[in-house]
Amino acid sequence: MDYQAPQDLLNDKVILITGAGDGIGKEAALAYAGHGATVVLLGKTTSKLEQVYDEIINMGAPEPGIAAMDLALTTSDDIRQLADTLETRYGRLDGLLHNAAVLGTRIPAEHYDIDKWMAVMQVNFNAVFSLTRLLLPLLRQSKAASLLFTSSSVGAKPRAYWGPYAVSKYAVEGLAKLLAEELENTSYIRVNIINPGATRTRMRATAFPNENPAEVKSTQTLMPLYLYLMGDDSIGNNGETFNAA
Ligand code: NDP
Repeated sequence: MDYQAPQDLLNDKVILITGAGDGIGKEAALAYAGHGATVVLLGKTTSKLEQVYDEIINMGAPEPGIAAMDLALTTSDDIRQLADTLETRYGRLDGLLHNAAVLGTRIPAEHYDIDKWMAVMQVNFNAVFSLTRLLLPLLRQSKAASLLFTSSSVGAKPRAYWGPYAVSKYAVEGLAKLLAEELENTSYIRVNIINPGATRTRMRATAFPNENPAEVKSTQTLMPLYLYLMGDDSIGNNGETFNAA
């Protein structure tokens, strides 16, 4: 996307990013903080989140929050506690980027281990629903909130052997579109979907081990779109899918 974000685009905004310790989520956290946001870094590996925290502090950006949570194991009580902490500390959320996901294995659904299937659905979809459900009251406190879901090409068109990863992304798109309708006239929350397309990260390298990473676009090239959708310039965009591919 050909968008030049103003430096103060996200001043005074509080934005939660899942999977903020690595890959696209890390890049988005740095970009949002660099444009003035107070970011809350949610992820599994505390040391990675601490590293992003340090980078943000060194940039001179607002001090981030850290929420170390394994979304494969998180209960609704854990998420309620997170919501309470955010409410006490910030009083609202202006943005929520659902970015964390796991790939699972690429084998026929017929042979997929059922527990492993459920584990992928847990991180990629059930946790996404639970977080959304329990953080919506905080998003409602914002004057203009952006709720962003991350999909994939396999969340819109089936591809054999992509199992629960593909199915979870279909579910994510379904939830996003349903919420976009439900919230359109009853809130100041806009809901959109990003498909980042092939991007140079650990997940991409795992999915396509024979690919030359140098030929895959960097996480940085996605940031104009990620900034556009999180900032107020995208007020009016609702229920849309943005393909960076
Ligand atoms: P990465 O694997 O590089 O990063 C995923 C992030 O999610 C990591 O920070 C990881 O934390 C976090 N995460 C994974 N499992 C959990 C968990 N159980 N609890 C909390 N956090 C967790 O992936 P990408 O950056 O490539 O992907 C980001 C998003 O973009 C995903 O939704 C993916 O489906 C989507 N996407 C990516 C494409 C690509 O080509 N890269 C293409 C299409 C879509 P930790 O590092 O601590 O494990």
